[in-house]
Amino acid sequence: MNFADIHYFILIVPACLILMGSLLLICHFVFKAPAYLLWLGLGYIVPSFSVATQCFMSNKQLALFAPILGSFYLFGAWSSAYAMGLRKTANAHSSGCAILIAITLVLLSYYSYIDDQLWIRMLVLNISIAVVESLVLFSMFKNYQNVDFLNKIVDFSYLFIVLYTFARGIIIFFFLKNIQADMLATSVWWLMMLAASIILSMWFAIVLLGTLVRDIIHQLNDERLRDPLTHLFNRRGFNEAAKVKLHCLSQQSYFLLMCDIDHFKKINDRYGHLIGDQILQQVSQIIGQNVCGHDLVGRFGGEEFIILLQVDDLELAYSIANRIRLRISDTQLSSENITVTASFGLAAVHQHNLKYAINAADQLLYDAKNSGRNQICFEPSLTVLDAQH
Ligand code: GH3
Ligand code: MG
Ligand code: MG
Repeated sequence: MNFADIHYFILIVPACLILMGSLLLICHFVFKAPAYLLWLGLGYIVPSFSVATQCFMSNKQLALFAPILGSFYLFGAWSSAYAMGLRKTANAHSSGCAILIAITLVLLSYYSYIDDQLWIRMLVLNISIAVVESLVLFSMFKNYQNVDFLNKIVDFSYLFIVLYTFARGIIIFFFLKNIQADMLATSVWWLMMLAASIILSMWFAIVLLGTLVRDIIHQLNDERLRDPLTHLFNRRGFNEAAKVKLHCLSQQSYFLLMCDIDHFKKINDRYGHLIGDQILQQVSQIIGQNVCGHDLVGRFGGEEFIILLQVDDLELAYSIANRIRLRISDTQLSSENITVTASFGLAAVHQHNLKYAINAADQLLYDAKNSGRNQICFEPSLTVLDAQH
């Protein structure tokens, strides 16, 4: 490969940066991904113009345009740090960055127009970029708890990139001292630094997009399986979770509880749907507070809830149902302090047949309604079982 070809070869670096940056911008603008991707995308794209143009510049041209090219790099560093700040609700110290960038531009101008020293310009620029990128780290890693594995990889990749940027300064100081612009493309150190930069940048974009895809899948699953008003499982979510539970923990015994708020239509008619919604939310909270973590709760329909209780006997299942019933009737709900009651149907899940249990509990709920509401009906066969205990 001759000298001119190497310059074109180096263009792969800005091309990759622009590609990755554009991907991040598309995620933000087209797929409505969070704003930090916009800033990170700019952090990739803006410095890539400097990388591309400097490939074809002579020593003289580089000196002439150094402060402009440098400002592109510095903007990219600040933009990435700002993006990380947005992502982690951390402080990127933008005013501190602005002062540092201004000082760096003065130094770049001095080592361009007064004392033309390419390697000092490179050193100053690298250290300044590293400091700008690192200012957000303190706030990012302060109280570093409850961070999942993928997000940890993103955070530590960013940390590694910052450390690498400092290391670049050391390499420039020891190995690229007094280098001329036209020698850069043939310097192994310079080419290795470019290669490492592009690999790290690509890695960072990939893990970051990985977290994004994971979050989108979580969100879609959530929307598919959860009820937006109460955040309980919807019918589909409940069925899926219950089937998994019955299959995985097949040795356990289960009871199915159906709960329906009494005369809820009247409340809607009298107080309006917003108050009705508040009541549904509070009833769902009451149910959640009175079952165990391993029980499943879902909103089965309008004002109807379904609960899969993982308990050994009817007595316990009944006492839980009764506790929920009493909590609902004893609590003043919504901003209008309304009291409501609920009726319940309780059925055992025989041989892990969920469908049969749902039908049975539904029928028993109907019986509870017909017997005057605000009560729990359970299968007569279970009464025998209950008596035996
Ligand atoms: P019953 O005691 O027999 O259960 O009488 P009910 O009035 O509670 O039952 P019905 O099935 O006649 O009415 C249920 C009402 O629940 C009708 C509907 O307006 C209301 N509803 C269903 N979903 C929602 C919702 O998401 N928000 C609100 N506010 N109301 C809802
Ligand atoms: Mg009802
Ligand atoms: Mg109903």
